[in-house]
Order: sequence, then C-alpha cells, then structure tokens
Amino acid sequence: MRIVLLGPPGAGKGTLAGRIKERFGAVHLSTGDMLRAEMKSGSPLGEEVRGYVEGGALVPDEVVIRLIEKRLREDARASERFLLDGFPRTEIQARRLDGILEKIARPLDFALFLETSEEVVVQRLAGRRVCRNCGALYHVTNMPPKVADRCDACGGPLYQRPDDNEETVRRRLAVYLQQTSPVIEYYRGGGRLVTVSSDRDVGLLLEDFARIWDDYAARHQD
Ligand code: AMP
Repeated sequence: MRIVLLGPPGAGKGTLAGRIKERFGAVHLSTGDMLRAEMKSGSPLGEEVRGYVEGGALVPDEVVIRLIEKRLREDARASERFLLDGFPRTEIQARRLDGILEKIARPLDFALFLETSEEVVVQRLAGRRVCRNCGALYHVTNMPPKVADRCDACGGPLYQRPDDNEETVRRRLAVYLQQTSPVIEYYRGGGRLVTVSSDRDVGLLLEDFARIWDDYAARHQD
C-alpha cells in the first residue's frame, strides 16, 4: 500500500492516516510532523524552517524532498507501505516523488483526494488539538479526549498548533489553492486520482477507503 493523501489543511488527512495505519499497518509519513519534530528539537533544519511553518507558508521544495527521500531510502518498511500526508504540496514535489519511487522500484498505488467544504475545514482547524507528546489528533467538539486537555493514548498534554489561528489558517488555505491544487490535477491527469467526500465522520471514510483499497488490490494482483 503506497498512497498519497491530498486535500486542504483540515480535510482530515492526518486523522484518516492514523486509522488506515491501525487497520492496514502502513507507515504514516507526515512532512508537517517531521518539520515540527525538527523545530522542537532545535536542530539547524528546525530553525531554518520555523518562519515558514509558523507563518503558514510552504518551506522550500528541496528541504521537504530531501526529508522524504532520506526516509524512503533508509526505511524499508516505510517504502513498502506508506501513507504520505502533506506531501507532495507542489507539482515539483509530485514529479520528484515519482522519480524517487521509480528509483527504488516502489511505485505509488494512487492519490486519495479528500474533498471538503471550506466551512468544515475552518471549523475543524479552529477546534483541532494535538498531543505534544505523541502527536495524536483531537477536536474540542468533534473528537474530544476522555479527560480534558489530556491525550487518551499517552496522557500527554494537548495544545493548539500556533499555525491553527484564524489569520494563518486563511493564509494556509490560500497557499493550498494556489500551490497544491495543481498536484490534484497532476494525479488526475495520470489517471491516479481517487476522490472521496471528507465532510463526514472518519469511521465512514475509513469504510469507504477499505472498499476502494480492496477493489484496487483485487485488480492489481501480481
Ligand atoms: P501540515 O502539518 O501538513 O499542515 O504542515 C504544516 C506546515 O509545514 C505547512 O503549513 C508548511 O509550512 C510546512 N510543510 C509541510 N509539508 C510541506 C510540504 N510538502 N512542502 C512545503 N511545506 C510543507
């Protein structure tokens, strides 16, 4: 299973990836998580990207391509089965990903586009909370933790991402429309895009995904 998850910030890519990972054992590769981990560790790379991430702008293509290429080349389990979340975000990244996957002989199965309305996205981002410790995702009303502000999985404290404030969310959505929409067309043009509606509960979305995957797998047995 090698899948790219596409959709605007707040489409539910990270939440769905978590559920697919549980059910199918694929590795969740989120460039946003990787960049935030670098920032948290205070590494030179983290300091280099901080301004972009906190301001809601894209970090330079070469930086994220290097991160993903390194991971796919060094982690055999991830290159065999992955869910890419937040990458590719530009057409250049999408083309380079195809090049990397070709070199390691691990072609993509398809890109899953989570189609979502703007209202839903804004509501999701405004209420999103993240575990500072393990990165698990919550929502103050849609998916609250059992104990307020504590992660169900590890007990870590929940926080609101600094780029989930209203002004930065607006910028991220504009960046998405301008720079990431072409990625959808790139996969659609290659006949590799599967579109599902993400304006609903993740459980239903997971069931849809499982049907799509089983169907795809049955047609690509070799
Ligand atoms: P995310 O967690 O996917 O919403 O990403 C958070 C932020 O990390 C984005 O707003 C960008 O600043 C940066 N980022 C993550 N993935 C990429 C990417 N593929 N290309 C450029 N910037 C990225």
